[in-house]
Amino acid sequence: MPDTTNDLHQLLSDIQRVLSQQKELTGDLLFTDPASSLNEQEAPTMASHKKAPPAEKGPDLFGFSPPPSPEAQPQMPAYPAEEWISAASLADLNTAICNCLKCPLGHTRTKFVFGVGNPSADIVFVGEAPGADEDMQGEPFVGRAGQLLNKILEAVHFKREDVYICNILKCRPPNNRDPQPDEIDSCEPYLWRQLELINPKLIVCLGRIAAQTLLRSTESLTNMRGKIHLYRGIQLVVTFHPAALLRNPNWKKPTWEDVQWIRKMYDEMKEQ
Ligand code: URA
Repeated sequence: MPDTTNDLHQLLSDIQRVLSQQKELTGDLLFTDPASSLNEQEAPTMASHKKAPPAEKGPDLFGFSPPPSPEAQPQMPAYPAEEWISAASLADLNTAICNCLKCPLGHTRTKFVFGVGNPSADIVFVGEAPGADEDMQGEPFVGRAGQLLNKILEAVHFKREDVYICNILKCRPPNNRDPQPDEIDSCEPYLWRQLELINPKLIVCLGRIAAQTLLRSTESLTNMRGKIHLYRGIQLVVTFHPAALLRNPNWKKPTWEDVQWIRKMYDEMKEQ
């Protein structure tokens, strides 16, 4: 409990800030009980958290399922026999791959978009591919979707510079179309090495394409949300892509619930 007037003012201003961030993310809705706010009729496409099996230590706040056994990990292909695989730091890796022309996107890009943030972050957010703004600036998530991602991160007290942010593809697909399988095949090994060097405790896939790619899955986003997956021994969770939230604001509320859960998992991992 606050014991001085200053503490009380600080507490009130913190509450005000969190409520306004929540309002910004979710519209006018104010919800305090995440479990009761999740109504399948309202958002039929979202994961049914309540139906998830109880976690080993008892169900968590949202009834999400426990981590899968290591056998549940997808089989990963081997690294290509290329020189960049021996890069010993993110900076070296970037230098080794930034002139890549392995797929046609290398010929149309303005800038190679490697990734941004803390090179030893405990949490990494993986999106799909650079858009027009990212292609111009050489940094992931700097356009409208990036502004929203920043707000989402701030709402659960992550600073952009403390986490790491990158994409499945490092070059922009024309007209922001979905990445093609051959582009993913060429580019994804760079991400494996990048994640290996960062060695995070938690990976958050933003959207279906990032999740399907890393998990070698054809499951829907709905089926992948609300579960803890394993990627090369690292816990991985899936939420909506910020660009999808711009198109469909109804998904802001389940995203708000996801990111609170993610923050809780992250804090628990840091304590271990
Ligand atoms: N969308 C993405 O998936 N990544 C970006 O960097 C920007 C938009």
